[in-house]
Amino acid sequence: MAGEPQSDCLFCKVVTGEIPATIVRESDTTVAFRDINPQAPTHVLVIPKAHYRDAAALAAAEPGIAADVLRESGLVAADEKITDTGYRIVLNTGSGAGQTVFHAHAHVLGGRGLQWPPG
Ligand code: 5GP
Ligand code: ZN
Repeated sequence: MAGEPQSDCLFCKVVTGEIPATIVRESDTTVAFRDINPQAPTHVLVIPKAHYRDAAALAAAEPGIAADVLRESGLVAADEKITDTGYRIVLNTGSGAGQTVFHAHAHVLGGRGLQWPPG
């Protein structure tokens, strides 16, 4: 069923604690943790606790939780003190765009100069 935990999903296992992660924030509906392979001094992933394959599927089914992910992303940036210098929230959607984990997640990247457009 939509939103239910998936036994083969890496980020569902982060939610349950089965896979350890450096958690920096948690809310009723979301978890934020450091990326294992950081691409910037701050690189945090914000995920819904419920399983949806990507951010668009999450927003279609649970717009309130999608908003929670965005709000928590902004709070991560504030915690990390990267709001003044600027930061990026990235939602890779589909393997052609670099999505490798099919549990919705927002990347929060900052602490260095970020080029636009990205590669
Ligand atoms: P995607 O490429 O799907 O947009 O992002 C997936 C992200 O998850 C990548 O940046 C990758 O480094 C990160 N990642 C993959 N496996 C793990 C893990 O086991 N723990 C953590 N903390 N991050 C992971
Ligand atoms: Zn999942």
